[in-house]
Amino acid sequence: MVEYFTDDKHKLDLYLDWTKKARNIVITSHQNPDGDAFGSALGLWNYIKKFDFEKVTFISPTDYAEFIAWMPGVPSIVVYDNKNKALANGLIAEADLIYCTDFSSGSRMKDMKDVVLNSSAKKIIIDHHEQPEDFGDLIYWNEHASSTCELIYQMIVKLGHESMIDLEVATCLYTGLLTDTGSFKYPATTPEVHSIAGKLLAKGVVPSSIHRSLFDQNDFEKLQFLGYVLSKKMTYLPEYRVCYTYISEKELKKFNSKNGDTEGIVNYGLSIAGSVMSAIFIEKEGLIKISFRSVHDFSVADLARDYFEGGGHKNAAGGRSSLSLEQTVQKFLTLLPYLKSQIELQPN
Ligand code: 5GP
Ligand code: MN
Repeated sequence: MVEYFTDDKHKLDLYLDWTKKARNIVITSHQNPDGDAFGSALGLWNYIKKFDFEKVTFISPTDYAEFIAWMPGVPSIVVYDNKNKALANGLIAEADLIYCTDFSSGSRMKDMKDVVLNSSAKKIIIDHHEQPEDFGDLIYWNEHASSTCELIYQMIVKLGHESMIDLEVATCLYTGLLTDTGSFKYPATTPEVHSIAGKLLAKGVVPSSIHRSLFDQNDFEKLQFLGYVLSKKMTYLPEYRVCYTYISEKELKKFNSKNGDTEGIVNYGLSIAGSVMSAIFIEKEGLIKISFRSVHDFSVADLARDYFEGGGHKNAAGGRSSLSLEQTVQKFLTLLPYLKSQIELQPN
């Protein structure tokens, strides 16, 4: 049975005790890592590194995109790919403590799932996604938090370790705050979020430089690909206030699209006045990866969970489909008449 401890001093102490006693610590996050996945895992890695432990390793279930490759600690990451699988399995077998950050559903560890879940190590989950699964020993969780980085910041402070947040930890945590709030614009952007961001700036974080490292590193081909998708592949259905886009593996190849190049495209659909939901369907390695975004009270987490083997947050969720690209889009379109009444309730 997983124990929640967001505001529980006793469990925070337990957390610290486990962390201090552990000799081999593994940190992991979710597949296709985003800014908050890397921000929280690397923020924690840079923080734990300061204790006198034998070993702390961040193992990423999948490779990572260029836009987060500059983050402090990235050169030490072990990616769970064919080349490193044996090494990573060894690290997990030796671990006495495993942190799972920014996810709480086992399937998000992809091929690493079984080895982590079957490991005898204690597991601590730190996350803000809806409906966490019961696979940890302790969970620091709050679905209203803007980001897992916000939770990690609070946890470090509650442990009395604010002074251990140096520029590297602060850079990681700021990155997760920034990316998961859509540059401080989503509804989870509370006074607390801005207050934490301010404290991280006081540690030396330069926001313009982080923003540019994350968002202004496009190559020309990527911009051309974006132009193609926006002009040829995006459809807006005003009668449903829904925008959708689909991209085949063939198109990704044609535009020489790299890992992470499709990140953020789904958000353009929400920039249309009056739109309530945007969806993108991407064919990758024979599977369809889906991203949903919404505004107001329309929950794409429910949609992803109920129909597309996924989940996430009310306004940002993901899922997958093993149908063909066309069949998946068709399935989505068939659902729209049933979603219409909920969508109509949303303000402009
Ligand atoms: P993205 O569309 O950027 O991949 O994901 C949007 C949000 O939903 C992120 O917070 C991501 O972590 C979450 N998410 C994506 N796929 C899944 C999934 O399969 N299950 C759950 N629980 N969350 C997901
Ligand atoms: Mn997150």
